[in-house]
Amino acid sequence: MPELPEVETSVRALKGFEGKILKNISVTNPHLRWKLDTKNIHALENLVVEKIFRRAKCIVLEFSDFFHLLHLGMTGTLRIQEASSNRIEKHDHIVFHFQDKSIVFNDTRKFGYFKILSKEAYRDFDRQLGPEPLSTNFSASYLQEKISKSNAAIKNLIMNQHVVVGVGNIYANEALFISNVHPMTSGNKLKNTEIDKLVKAIKQVLKKAIALGGTTLKDFYSPEGNKGYFKIKLKVYGNDNQPCPNCANSISRIVVGQRASFLCNKCQKLR
Ligand SMILES: [Zn+2]
Repeated sequence: MPELPEVETSVRALKGFEGKILKNISVTNPHLRWKLDTKNIHALENLVVEKIFRRAKCIVLEFSDFFHLLHLGMTGTLRIQEASSNRIEKHDHIVFHFQDKSIVFNDTRKFGYFKILSKEAYRDFDRQLGPEPLSTNFSASYLQEKISKSNAAIKNLIMNQHVVVGVGNIYANEALFISNVHPMTSGNKLKNTEIDKLVKAIKQVLKKAIALGGTTLKDFYSPEGNKGYFKIKLKVYGNDNQPCPNCANSISRIVVGQRASFLCNKCQKLR
C-alpha cells in the first residue's frame, strides 16, 4: 500500500505540472472507492494547477477556487507519459491531459479516490488532521502534550491521524523499535526522553524511505514508470523469529489495534 514516502515521491515527480493548464480529463472507469463525480471533475478542465503538494496520504492539486484530492488507496499508482503516447494499460481509469504530458491513474483494486473540495471544505479537512510528521509542528513537546493523558497504546496513538498524519504500520513499528519503546506502552507512561527519541525516530525512518524513493511491499510504481518500490532495510517489520539487529533475541509478532506489530521484547520492555 502506498504510504507517506510513496505519496511524497509521487508529489515530487508531479511538481513539473505546477503552473500548467489541465486541458482535459478522460475517465474510462468512474467506479473507484466512491463513484467519481464525472460532472464535477470536468469543471477542472482548462484551469491552471497552481500548486501540487501532499497532505497526509493525499496528493493535493490546488486550483484558484478548488482543491482536488487524490488518494492512491491500496494499489493506486500514477504514471507520467508523453501527451502523444497512446500507451494504455489494464486498470488505467483516469487520464489528466496537459499540453505535453499526461498523468495516468492506474488502480487494480480501485480503492483510490478523487475529491473536489471548495477552499472552505479543504480548510475543514486540513483542520481535522494532526500535523505532518516531518514538520516542525510535530515535536516532542507537541506529542508529549497530546499523549500525556492517554492510556491508549503508543503505537495506536502515533498511527492516529488526529495525533500525527501519515505514520503507517511499517514506519510505526520501525520507529518504536529504534526508540526502544514497546508498542503497547500507554501514552501516559512514556518518559520525556522516550517521546523525544520516538519523534526523532519517526522523522528518521520516513526521511530515509523518501530519500530512497519510496519503500514498500508491492504495487507501487513511481510516476516516471520506474519500479518505485524497494524495501528500506527494515529492522523489525516482517522479521518475526529473526534475530534482533541489536541483541540477537528473537523478534516477536503481536497484534496491537488489530495490526501486526513486530518487536524485540528485550530492547522494547513493556512497563
Ligand atoms: Zn533486541
